[in-house]
Amino acid sequence: MWEDADVDQATPQMRDIIIIGSGPAGYTAAIYAARANLAPLVLKGLDAGGQLMLTTDVENFPGFPGGIMGPALMEDLEKQAHRFGAEILPAHVTKVDLSARPFGVWAGDQGWRANAVIIATGATARWLGVPGEEKLRGRGVSACATCDGFFFKDRELLVVGGGDSAMEEATFLTKFASKVTIVHRRDEFRASKIMVDRALANPKIEVIWNATVAEILGTDAVTGARLLDTVTGETTEVRADGVFMAIGHDPNTSLFAGQLALDSADYVAVHEPRTTTSVEGVFAAGDVTDTIYRQAVTAAGQGCKAAIDAEHFLEELSHSRAGAHAAG
Ligand code: NAP
Repeated sequence: MWEDADVDQATPQMRDIIIIGSGPAGYTAAIYAARANLAPLVLKGLDAGGQLMLTTDVENFPGFPGGIMGPALMEDLEKQAHRFGAEILPAHVTKVDLSARPFGVWAGDQGWRANAVIIATGATARWLGVPGEEKLRGRGVSACATCDGFFFKDRELLVVGGGDSAMEEATFLTKFASKVTIVHRRDEFRASKIMVDRALANPKIEVIWNATVAEILGTDAVTGARLLDTVTGETTEVRADGVFMAIGHDPNTSLFAGQLALDSADYVAVHEPRTTTSVEGVFAAGDVTDTIYRQAVTAAGQGCKAAIDAEHFLEELSHSRAGAHAAG
C-alpha cells in the first residue's frame, strides 16, 4: 500500500503492518490483516506459538468439542494466517524504534519498517526453576488452573504463591480437586483480603505457611513435592497429583520500555476497548496487555481488534496523505 519517499531506502523492507509475536493474539491479528490485503509480516520470536506450546489439551477454545492439543492449535493458526498471505518468519525481534513513522523493527542485522506495528509478545508465567518442574510440565505441573484444572477431578493439588492469582486459582481448583493446599513462602498473604477470605473459607483449601517448593517429585506424573521450611530450614515431602504455579507473570515488554506507555506492572497500556497505545500507529493485543483474563480466546479476540484498528489507521493515513498530495 505504501510507496513513501520518506522511507529510509537503506532499510530494505517496507511493510504495511508488522506483528511481533506468534501466540493466539499475533496469529489472529495476522489472519485479519492478511484478509484485509495488508500482507502482514509476523515475527515469531524465541517462544514461537506462545504459552499454548507448553500446554497439552486445550478444552476451552471454542470450536473444538473434542479439545485440541495446544501446539496443534498454534500450528493451525499459523497455517490459517499463511493461507491468506501473511509472511511468517522465525525471527526474534531485538530492537524497535517507535519514535517516528515508519517505525523500525530489527531482528539482529535484519530490519524492516512499517507504518503500523501490532505488539503481541505475550507474557511469561514465572516458574520456580526447581528440579522436576520442567520435566513434569504438562504432566501435573501447570501455571494455568483455568486451562488444566479440569484434568484433576478428585485429586490433591498444591498451589504455590500468596497473591490474588494463588487465591483465585486455589478457589477455582476446588471445583475439581478433593483438596488444594496453598504453599506460601511467608506467614502472610500478599493477596487482597476479599480473595484471601474467600479462599480460607473454602473447606477444601489448606495452607502451608513459610514454605517453598524445593523439588517436584514424580517420574511420568507428579506424585508430590519436597518442601523447604523457610524458618527452620527443614524439608518435608507432601503427596500431590499436581502443582500449580501462581507466582506471577512477566509481560514481555522490555523491548518497548521508554518508547511506549506501560502500566505500573510493565504491561502495555491500551485505550480499552480499542487496542491503541500511547504511540499512534502502534497497537497491542493479548497477554502483553492483560493482567486479568489471560486466555487464548481473549487474546485472539484482542488480536482481531488490533488488526481492525490498524487497518482503519492505515486507511486514514492513506487518505490524509492523498489529501496532502492533492493540496500540494
Ligand atoms: P503477585 O501479586 O506478584 O503475587 C505473586 C506471589 O507469588 C506472591 O505472594 C509472592 O510471594 C509469590 N512468589 C513470587 N516468586 C516466588 C518464588 N520464587 N517462590 C515462591 N513464591 C513466590 O502475582 P499475581 O498473584 O499473579 O497477581 C498479579 C497482579 O494481577 C496483581 O496486581 C493482582 O492483584 C492481579 N490479579 C487480580 C485478580 C483479581 O482481582 N481477580 C486475580 C489475579 C491477579 P511474596 O508475597 O512473598 O512476594
